[in-house]
Amino acid sequence: MPDDVSVHAIPMTTRFRGITTREGLLLPGAAGWGEFCPFTEYDDRESAPWLTSAVEAARVGWPEPVRDRIPVNCTVPAVDAVTAHRIVRESGCTTAKVKVADLPGSLPADEERVEAVRDALGPSGAVRVDANGAWTVSEAVHAIGLLERAAGGLEYVEQPCPEIEQLARVRRRVDVRIAADESIRRAEDPMRVVLAEAADVAVLKVAPLGGVHRCMEVAEACGLPVVVSSALETSVGLAAGLALAGALPELPLACGLGTATLLVDDVVDPGERLVPVGGSLPVPRRAPEPVRRTAFAADDERTAWWRARFDRVAELLGGR
Ligand SMILES: [Mg+2]
Repeated sequence: MPDDVSVHAIPMTTRFRGITTREGLLLPGAAGWGEFCPFTEYDDRESAPWLTSAVEAARVGWPEPVRDRIPVNCTVPAVDAVTAHRIVRESGCTTAKVKVADLPGSLPADEERVEAVRDALGPSGAVRVDANGAWTVSEAVHAIGLLERAAGGLEYVEQPCPEIEQLARVRRRVDVRIAADESIRRAEDPMRVVLAEAADVAVLKVAPLGGVHRCMEVAEACGLPVVVSSALETSVGLAAGLALAGALPELPLACGLGTATLLVDDVVDPGERLVPVGGSLPVPRRAPEPVRRTAFAADDERTAWWRARFDRVAELLGGR
């Protein structure tokens, strides 16, 4: 392991994905900095592409960009309608991604939330929702109808159900476009999503798919419009997502990379933080320097855990 790796633990502003602190390991190399941050419950095998991605950022670098700014969506967690309205207004974004189906029985609150988001965006904005695979097929068909009405139109519904085959069944029964996220990330073969006619949009996350170059291949192979999203990284990891968004030949939809503010602070200088301005982010050539790593250093126990994890996963990848 290189000497200069560091482990950080940064509290989140809102509980997201069941976590309140985001941890990760930062890795330096000749090409820049990489962030290795698989969620803590992932096993070593599932963590392997995250390390490939971090090593790519540190040692290999990214493809040439074809654009220099990336429009991003704001993210509305499972909050009340008043808070949802405020988040959208303060974001400056014209696209909002709204978390729905957070808890059983949340549909009435979900409807209120998307209605508030539409009100905040105005008729020209785009509302997309993400159910993170929480619904059955019939629940999805029912909920999508209600949410589409409440939102006055949805751009797409992300991962309404857990299984690829379920996405395909929902897709045949609703008019709204379906986006696949977890289905692509966890599939042995991302092409299966396309072959099953399960999605209209592919959500690609750089780290779990094994890096920017690998995502470029997946995007080309699947032939669907791509939305590049984050995995709740610091600005170091977000830079890799922006590099992918910057290099894709087509980018018709806003990306889910405006997530830096879901962390209370960042490992980079405040001026370098990848926080959207006017609803977009710049495409960096390399990750911003993590000059504030010590401010968010994890405790000894967590640092040892991450270093051991790094070593095991590196071993799995063939001893980097
Ligand atoms: Mg998602």
